[in-house]
Amino acid sequence: MLKEFKDFAMRGNVMDLAIAVIIGGAFGKIIASLVNDVLMPLIGLLLGGISFSNLSVTVNEAVIAYGLFIQAIVDFVIVAFVIFLLVRSMNRMKKPEAAAEPTTKECPYCFSTVPIKATRCPNCTSQL
Ligand SMILES: [Zn+2]
Repeated sequence: MLKEFKDFAMRGNVMDLAIAVIIGGAFGKIIASLVNDVLMPLIGLLLGGISFSNLSVTVNEAVIAYGLFIQAIVDFVIVAFVIFLLVRSMNRMKKPEAAAEPTTKECPYCFSTVPIKATRCPNCTSQL
């Protein structure tokens, strides 16, 4: 049992996942701080000095803190946007590698696909 667990925990993808979770957690705190300490006061200022976390409606005895809800949505949108930018830039870095070095070319006489190093077409026997 213990050995099985060790094998499971030591697998590369589990470690990757753990690192992702830890980095994600730390990153989430940065985003939360950015939103709570920088963006929301600015937005509050623009809206005439209201603080979002204080926005609430009291219905009988229930307090509906919709300001916190708005803040959570803004948090989410920012996190999603940052992740989108990260994924997009990573995809851009990957693409040139994948498209590098073609291994085939087209025969100019019969338009069939032949290996790039071929000097004679295997289909129409033309000199390439
Ligand atoms: Zn050919």
